[in-house]
Amino acid sequence: MQTAFTADQLRDPNIAESNTILRKCVHCGFCTATCPTYVLLGDELDSPRGRIYLIKNMLERGEAATAETVKHIDRCLSCLSCMTTCPSGVNYMHLIDNARVHVEKTYRRPLPERLLRALLAYVMPRPELFRSALAAARLGRPFAPLFGKLGFKPVEALLRLVPKASPAPEALGTPGTYPAEGPKRARVALLQGCVQSVIDPAINAAAIRLLNRNGVEVVVTAGEPCCGSLTHHMGKEEDSLARARRMVDQWTDADVDAVIITASGCGTTIKDYGFMLRLDPLYAEKSAAISKKSFDVTEYLAKLDLPEAQPPRPLHLAYHSACSMQHGQKIIREPKALLTRAGFKVSDVPEGHLCCGSAGTYNILQPEIARQLRDRKVGNIEKIAPDAIATGNIGCITQIGSGTAIPIMHTVELLDWAYGGPEPQALKGSGASH
Ligand code: SF4
Ligand code: SF4
Repeated sequence: MQTAFTADQLRDPNIAESNTILRKCVHCGFCTATCPTYVLLGDELDSPRGRIYLIKNMLERGEAATAETVKHIDRCLSCLSCMTTCPSGVNYMHLIDNARVHVEKTYRRPLPERLLRALLAYVMPRPELFRSALAAARLGRPFAPLFGKLGFKPVEALLRLVPKASPAPEALGTPGTYPAEGPKRARVALLQGCVQSVIDPAINAAAIRLLNRNGVEVVVTAGEPCCGSLTHHMGKEEDSLARARRMVDQWTDADVDAVIITASGCGTTIKDYGFMLRLDPLYAEKSAAISKKSFDVTEYLAKLDLPEAQPPRPLHLAYHSACSMQHGQKIIREPKALLTRAGFKVSDVPEGHLCCGSAGTYNILQPEIARQLRDRKVGNIEKIAPDAIATGNIGCITQIGSGTAIPIMHTVELLDWAYGGPEPQALKGSGASH
C-alpha cells in the first residue's frame, strides 16, 4: 500500500512504525474472511483491510480522529485472527495499538462513554477495588434486564458477566515463594494478575501445585500492578507503559529463569513489552529480556515432559483456543497435547479461529457484537457435545461461561487434577463424565 507521510511526520517513531506496517499490506483481502466483525456485519469498514485504510487516512491527515473512524476501530476485537491469515506479514497488532493511542489522544468521546471507560480502566486493574466492585455488582445482577430496557447496554452486559457466587479463597497464589518438591529444576515468577486473581484464584493455585510437583520453584512478587494489558487495549499508553515498567523491574529483581502467565491475554502483552518499551533507554534492554523469557503456562509445562496420566474421571473436553493464545502467541499444539497426555479426550471447536467476543473489556463496551459472537461460539461448542470446556484465558472463561451450562475451566486446573491435584471447582457437582 502506498503511503504519503511527510518527512516531519516520519520523525515520530510510532508513525514511522505504522508506515512500515501499512506499506506491507497489498490489499489482497484474505484477512476479511477470518475477521469476526466482518463475518458478522459484512461491512468492509469492519474488516481488517477496511480498518487499515481508515487508520492510514487518520494518521496521514494527522488530525483528530472522526466519530466514523472511531466506531470501526472500537469494533475491532484485537483478536489478531487477521494476522494469522495475512500472507504478507502485516503487523496489524502494532498498527491498531498505534491507532488506539491516536484516538485516545485526539478524540473526545460522549460523556457516558468517557465515564464508563475511565471507570473500567481505574477499577479493573486494582484487585482490591475490583473485588469490592464485583460484590456490589453481584447485588445489582438481578436488575441487569432493567438497565438494558433503559438503554444502558454496557451496564447490562457488565452485570450479566458478574459470576453468581464469589470464588473460594485460595492461599496459594498470594505473594511469596512456593518451593519445588524434590530436586529444583528451575525458579520462575508467576504473574499474579488482576482480574483473574479476583474472579478465579484457583487457576494460579493449580499452576503453582503442578509446577512445584515438577521441581519448579514459583515466586509471586509482592505489590504487582496489573500487567498493563487492559489499559493498553484502550489506548491509554502512559498508564500501560508505567505498569509494564513496574512489572519488568519486579521480575528483573526476582532473578528468575522464566516468567509464567496463566492468562493468555496478559501473555500476549507481556511478550510484547520489549517492543512497547523499545524507545525507553532505561527499559529497552531489560523489557526485551523479560519478554524473551515469558511463557504461557502450557508452553512451559510442555518443556517439562510430564508423564502420561489418567484423570480421576474420563472426560471429553472441547478445547477453546483463546485468540490471544492461537493468534497472539501462536500457541496451538501444546495445550491439547498436554491434555491428551493427561488422559482426556480432546476435540477442537468448529470455527475455532473466531473470537468468543470476550476481548478484554470488549464484551462490556460492545455488548451486542460480543453477545452474537458468544452465542455462535457456544453453538459451535455444543455441536461436539463435550463434558467440559478447557481454555487458557479468564476472559473467555467468563464470556463463554455466561452463555452455557457446560462447565468451563482453565487447562491448568484440569492438568493439575489429572496429576494428583483437587477436582476443579467448575466440575464439582456437574456430573460431567464421558
Ligand atoms: S491479508 Fe494482509 S496484505 Fe491482505 S489485505 Fe489483509 S492485511 Fe493486507
Ligand atoms: S483483530 Fe480481529 S476483529 Fe480486528 S480486524 Fe483483525 S480479525 Fe478483525
